[in-house]
Amino acid sequence: MLERRELFPNVIELNFQARRRLGCCVYLIFSGSDWMLLDIGYADTVDEIIDLIRQMDFPLANCKYLVATHADADHVQGFQRAKELLPGSQLVAHPDAKIILESNDRIASFAEIPAQGISIDMPNFVIDKEVDEGTTLELGKLKIQVWHTPGHAVGQLAFRLGNLLFSGDNIFRDGCVGSIDAHHGSDLPAFIDSLKRIQKSSVEWLLPSHGPAFRNEAKLLQSAIDRLDRYQHMADFGTCAVDWPLLDEWEAELAKGQNPAAS
Ligand SMILES: [Zn+2]
Repeated sequence: MLERRELFPNVIELNFQARRRLGCCVYLIFSGSDWMLLDIGYADTVDEIIDLIRQMDFPLANCKYLVATHADADHVQGFQRAKELLPGSQLVAHPDAKIILESNDRIASFAEIPAQGISIDMPNFVIDKEVDEGTTLELGKLKIQVWHTPGHAVGQLAFRLGNLLFSGDNIFRDGCVGSIDAHHGSDLPAFIDSLKRIQKSSVEWLLPSHGPAFRNEAKLLQSAIDRLDRYQHMADFGTCAVDWPLLDEWEAELAKGQNPAAS
């Protein structure tokens, strides 16, 4: 049997377990012999991940849930292969992520970025169980609260387990946030609300979907909130902005006939 490297009680992260970077974070949460996975990553790492899980002595028949934190290809592509290996599990997602995955919306899932030549194969998904704000996922003795935290993506979920929050692509240890992209359904005001909610919560640790876990520090969250607040009034993220004050200033200058070259 492979030694279980628990990141926190009842929580294993597969990159940490493997001591190398496999892809996005893949969290295995367990209680007794029941277990579940949050995200899986790309299909080409699934067999290795399931093999590690088998070697840690988790019965494959006892995987209850395979949960998509959101619909992005780099988080979910491998779920089809995982379900073949874990036929007793249910594929779980937010209703908005279910729509993207079941309709194979390749733009919203970042499977297709034509301008960059990115084109990723996506399987045909069937979501078995929808979860949303307020849902509790029960796993053995554990109760995992589902938070809907849109902003990066419409169906972005976070999951609270005691003082831990599996925080998805909301924020990372360096203060970066999940990418802001109109085609992806990003929403700056919603993103700010999600970050404020995390900041104000009593959660002590954030377990993100990329990179290492880190403490829920108000200062780090505030720097991201302030940055996104500025983006709301800048052209940097195009139609994700709520306004662009420069155009109002220009309008006033045009009306006055103000010549910028003369000032
Ligand atoms: Zn991501």
